[in-house]
Amino acid sequence: MLIRFHRNTDEDSVNKLKKSVEQTGGSAFYLSHAGDMLMVVNGCNPEFFSNISSIESVLNIDTPYQLANRALHPEGSVVNVGNATFQEGKFTVIAGPCSVESFAQFKSIGESVKPQGAKMLRGGAYKPRTSPYSFQGLGEDGLKIMSDVAKSLDLPLVSELIDPRDADVLYKYADMIQIGTRNALNFPLLRLVGEMGKPVLLKRGQSSTVKELLTASEYILSCGNFDLILCERGIRTFEDSTRNTLDISAVPVLKKFTHLPIIIDPSHAAGRAEYVTPLALAAVAAGADGIITEVHCKPQEALSDKEQALSFEQFETLMNGVRAVAKAVGKEM
Ligand code: PEP
Ligand code: MN
Repeated sequence: MLIRFHRNTDEDSVNKLKKSVEQTGGSAFYLSHAGDMLMVVNGCNPEFFSNISSIESVLNIDTPYQLANRALHPEGSVVNVGNATFQEGKFTVIAGPCSVESFAQFKSIGESVKPQGAKMLRGGAYKPRTSPYSFQGLGEDGLKIMSDVAKSLDLPLVSELIDPRDADVLYKYADMIQIGTRNALNFPLLRLVGEMGKPVLLKRGQSSTVKELLTASEYILSCGNFDLILCERGIRTFEDSTRNTLDISAVPVLKKFTHLPIIIDPSHAAGRAEYVTPLALAAVAAGADGIITEVHCKPQEALSDKEQALSFEQFETLMNGVRAVAKAVGKEM
């Protein structure tokens, strides 16, 4: 159950109500965000809250996630990252390499994807590799390169955090913090990015249900960070002709249950460059608010995920198709 107080309610009355809920054996979690005064209540009857003058509305939400529930913002949330906007009615493209490898590499990719319509750059500096002997990323040096290039192109940058010890460095250089599929249920890390005060891109765990993605998002929201975008990036199934199976139905399902913007990562879903564009087109048609995709100046020489990296020409084809489908479904780019 989600209680919304009238704005300007004094916190004393909120605390008194919280105590009385707890005395009846229920639990109450209070959060103030952007002027909204909200209380998540469990184990208490809605009648308990009738005739309390400080309460504006009682949303009787029966899902384990409350702040992520669509009922809180039926019109859908808007998340701004620098000049990039994620919201319903728009389609926003994030592009860049899997890993930053050098200044020249990142600059050439940034300069190629921007005129094609990418609104944001991506690039990993701390890579969650399956093998400890694979390229692990350039760390802070890589983040500095990406930040310099992103600033010179006036595009915001998203990069992944895998280790809480790197949080300050990520904070300094990235405009949005990515939590990858392997950490999608790492609750202390989710709390940490909830408290960092930067927009967050939360990917779906490779074996997580949609509900688990939403409850994971609740960890970030409950820290007061509503600048949150969710990403479907393919899940593990028995199918092995693609790296993962893109759960395209997750888009309309998530749109029904949450107000948070939803994007698709067709690159990690497909695992092969030739399948990335069809999945990106499906993302637009299914109602996603954007995509994040991997592009490389020399795909065959990429130090990570080279099989799925789009060449500049392939990215141009993707963008032409995405623009056409976006127009057909009434999405602005
Ligand atoms: C990535 O975006 O580089 C990445 C590692 O993605 P995922 O967590 O989806 O595998
Ligand atoms: Mn990758």
